[in-house]
Amino acid sequence: MRKIIVGTSWKMHIHSMKEGEKLVEGIYRSVGYVKEVEMFILPTYPMIPMIAKKLETGNIKWGAQNICMMDKGAYTGEVPPLILKELGCSYIEIGHAERRATFGETDKDVHKKVRLSLEYDMIPVVCIGETEEDKREHVGNVRLHTQVLWALNGLPIEEMKKVILAYEPVWAIGKAEAAGAEYVENIHGYVRSIIEKEYGRDVAQAIRIIYGGSVNRDNTNLLTKQENVDGLFVGRFGLNPEDFSQIVKTT
Ligand code: PEP
Repeated sequence: MRKIIVGTSWKMHIHSMKEGEKLVEGIYRSVGYVKEVEMFILPTYPMIPMIAKKLETGNIKWGAQNICMMDKGAYTGEVPPLILKELGCSYIEIGHAERRATFGETDKDVHKKVRLSLEYDMIPVVCIGETEEDKREHVGNVRLHTQVLWALNGLPIEEMKKVILAYEPVWAIGKAEAAGAEYVENIHGYVRSIIEKEYGRDVAQAIRIIYGGSVNRDNTNLLTKQENVDGLFVGRFGLNPEDFSQIVKTT
């Protein structure tokens, strides 16, 4: 049985500590003690200690929006994975569409980051998803197949089961509407079938596949009703405690 999980990344939208404090306090007040749903918040790096303190009690976990590909060394501007672990991070977002498009992150980079997160006992939340162009050219499935294999390949089976795949069609991010529930269910089923074919039914049934891309309080229920949708990854609507708590509660 896969536990439903709802997470939110604040990206760089929250741009002061004060704003971050207010938001985390609001979220904590409304859903901090929900037990039925696993929850996480991903703030920017410097906010992590503050978030960790605010979420010390309750059921909301936290993590980072990225991880360095390397362990330590001469990598100016990067953050060592061990420090993220020491700050209590449980989840690491990897390969978001913005990182792939704006920062040139490749599938190979994603692969390295997945391995490193698991090495430090943090759960990778790996974003996968076809672009608008992939969809138009009917190569969305090829894109997903490649991304899934790069993310998981070579991991020990028990480690592989811990990975969360976040299906985020690039064409549905930051839009007025999410992808349709039926469309999402079909894709999640396809992703699970790739995993089953490559690594077996046991792994395919264990891995959680969540959906992200314009999730809001009105489309939550329809999405999470789908058999292969194991939770949600929330963007804009995670920046408002009322929206986020409604999403968690209607999941
Ligand atoms: C995202 O960028 O990953 C995302 C899901 O954003 P939004 O919910 O705002 O579309």
